[in-house]
Amino acid sequence: MQALCYIDGRWVEGDSTFSVTDPATGKAIGTASEASASMATEAIDAASQALPVWSALPAKDRSNILRKIAEHLLDAVDRIADVVVAEQGKTASQAAFEVKYAAEWITWFAEEGRRTYGRVIPTHSPAKRLMVLRQPVGVAVAITPWNFPVAMIARKLAPALAAGCTMVVKPAEQTPLSAAALFEILDEAGLPPGVANCVTTSDPVAISPHLLQDPRVRKITFTGSTEVGKLLVRESGNNLTRVSLELGGHAPFIVFEDADLEAAVTGLLTSKFQVTGQSCLCPNRIFVHEEVEEEFIALLTAAVSSLVVGPGSKSGVDIGPLIDRQTFEKVQGHVDDAVAQGASVTVGGSRVEGAGFDDGFFFAPTIIQHCTDTMKITTEETFGPVVPLMSFSTDEDVLARANDTQYGLAAYFYTNDLRRSLRVAERLEYGMVGVNDPTPATPSGPFGGMKESGLGREGGFEGIDAFLESKLISTVI
Ligand code: NAP
Repeated sequence: MQALCYIDGRWVEGDSTFSVTDPATGKAIGTASEASASMATEAIDAASQALPVWSALPAKDRSNILRKIAEHLLDAVDRIADVVVAEQGKTASQAAFEVKYAAEWITWFAEEGRRTYGRVIPTHSPAKRLMVLRQPVGVAVAITPWNFPVAMIARKLAPALAAGCTMVVKPAEQTPLSAAALFEILDEAGLPPGVANCVTTSDPVAISPHLLQDPRVRKITFTGSTEVGKLLVRESGNNLTRVSLELGGHAPFIVFEDADLEAAVTGLLTSKFQVTGQSCLCPNRIFVHEEVEEEFIALLTAAVSSLVVGPGSKSGVDIGPLIDRQTFEKVQGHVDDAVAQGASVTVGGSRVEGAGFDDGFFFAPTIIQHCTDTMKITTEETFGPVVPLMSFSTDEDVLARANDTQYGLAAYFYTNDLRRSLRVAERLEYGMVGVNDPTPATPSGPFGGMKESGLGREGGFEGIDAFLESKLISTVI
């Protein structure tokens, strides 16, 4: 498999390539083009040249092209999911789900692009008429992570294109093949040249100034770690470029004493183990009320012990490998730190051993009991299949602890008390709250975080708003 850069509607080779690895085997499965700084600039040139025509197209025409892209994507679910499994490691069913989810985002914004209404403002003078136009911000640059290598690009590309912007995408270096597979779909669906461009690299530091500091770039949309997000804001600050950031999370998952415990366990499995715990939405601190702790842990232990680990391509597998050695070592480091501080591992806790597991980055689904609020695992994003458990006794106590973090992306809680559900949801300092719901994210709702989890929202009408400027037109009649 080979990923080339896609610039101005053409597939372009770099001067060199870098290798792409299957995290289940540690073996190379393909290569991607190493984009040079001049290729990054060519991509911006192409996006800039395409902008006047694309932004002037009627919204309905842009919508029709996006719909066509979504249809082509849905026709190619299996083909693209195979690429995602091969380089990202998630299971085949999770990969297929991701491709369909990406198509949903594109479909949503195909429609939302037809509703970027301006307004007429009641005038303060009989001689004037006031009108507000919503216009595309211009050329946008998207930088995306490896955990949802198709959906994260779709979530940025679709609102940008629907709004009338053009875009240059820089995907993560672990997953350039999935990005190229998505761009093949854009090409097949007839997206005009230059409207969307893709540059792959294993050296983002070398090309990012050429993407981020080009004065023609009016918008940067980034999904990734908080650390890199802050760096990109500093890098693009001189031009006062508009920035949207979807950053790290450290989700609390609270089980109150009146919760349906079986539903809470099922929900925790869904939200914690998706993509082997490598999602920004994964719960990282599981607070269980002391009255139901014993029963909850028994149910959870049975459920986690039955999860099947293996290569994502194998049927019946629930949990694939971690993306790379660095991620594996971080997860192990968090578990070891918790144990050194008095926590106890009751399920898993280390690498999966045995035939077929030697070369991949397989970490066993893990439960750790008796965690405290000051361990690495309860203060830093772990990004692995580990459930750190803590107990609590009052609502006030758990709310204070749940909010005591610089992150504010997603939070979950389980209760059957309506009054408590509203009270707690209002007080959690998070951009998304799942009440008895492990999967609150959807294209029609605002997706994003408070505090250091991000700036702005993707999804909902807010998602397209991020690619629009308001222009006041005052006319004397
Ligand atoms: P990352 O290291 O921040 O990388 C994200 C992207 O930024 C990659 O394309 C990466 O390129 C690029 N990058 C890294 N350093 C850069 C630099 N100096 N200049 C320009 N680009 C640079 O994050 P990751 O490890 O891929 O993803 C995991 C993180 O993403 C987690 O913190 C997770 O919570 C977060 N995330 C957030 C959301 C959300 O919606 N809030 C969704 C998914 C993931 P390379 O790949 O070449 O390093």
